[in-house]
Amino acid sequence: MRTDAVTAEKLAKWYGTRDAPVHALAETDLAIAEGEFLVLLGPSGCGKTTLLRMIGGLLPPTSGSLAVMGQPLWRDGRRNDAALSELGMVFQDANLFPWLSIEDNIALPLQLRGLGRGQRREKARELMRLVGLSGFERRWPRELSGGMRQRAAIARALSYGPDILLMDEPFGALDAMTREAMNLELQRIWMETGKTVVLVTHSISEAVFLADRILLLSPRPGKVDREVAVPFARPRAPAVQASAEFQSIAAMLRERLSAIA
Ligand code: ADP
Ligand code: MG
Repeated sequence: MRTDAVTAEKLAKWYGTRDAPVHALAETDLAIAEGEFLVLLGPSGCGKTTLLRMIGGLLPPTSGSLAVMGQPLWRDGRRNDAALSELGMVFQDANLFPWLSIEDNIALPLQLRGLGRGQRREKARELMRLVGLSGFERRWPRELSGGMRQRAAIARALSYGPDILLMDEPFGALDAMTREAMNLELQRIWMETGKTVVLVTHSISEAVFLADRILLLSPRPGKVDREVAVPFARPRAPAVQASAEFQSIAAMLRERLSAIA
């Protein structure tokens, strides 16, 4: 039987504020398959980050339930460590510690888990090869470009071996050319590792280029407006973006986005 990497049932979020509570996410059911590349697409403020942070265990749901690799993420109001260890997160900002080398940044989660120096180094070097950072082990974060810092953030998120990579607009701060290169790199890393990826973006072309499946969220409270399967063969090359089918999926999403925003 197929296991789902993530399942959500009637997941919802209200934020308590000083005035009226904010209904950020309406009751949502989700099933994300193991190995799937899922993209959450929607206008700013529609609840993408809220949904991703709940999946990542960073934000407790107001109601509903979440399971990760078949294990409940929350039990009696406490996070379940076994489920959490299956989740790695990457944000728009790499958040590297400026006083640690790139290798030590990547190995930090392993240090926090008590691994010895030799094992940390071996794992960090393997991951640096995977993300294309070999040779930069002893560099400082400030010596790296924005794209390279995001490569390091991906390596760090994978350091303790999670099955699922959650990414919140990871390339949103990069220039267009670096962003396109990082999309190709991410596709390669995903294909090499077989991880499940859930990526948040408000870029239609990024969504269609990367996703197996796109969930288009409508705003306030966020809910799934459309579910779109993207059929292009892998690995996808940039040229796929010029195809009529790519253009027609993108146009449909663009129309739908302007209708709901
Ligand atoms: P997105 O990532 O799609 O831009 P968010 O998930 O960040 O959207 O936010 C969804 C809605 O919830 C927005 O209206 C936002 O203003 C509101 N919101 C987010 N975080 C908080 C918070 N901590 N307190 C109150 N409202 C919040
Ligand atoms: Mg966001």
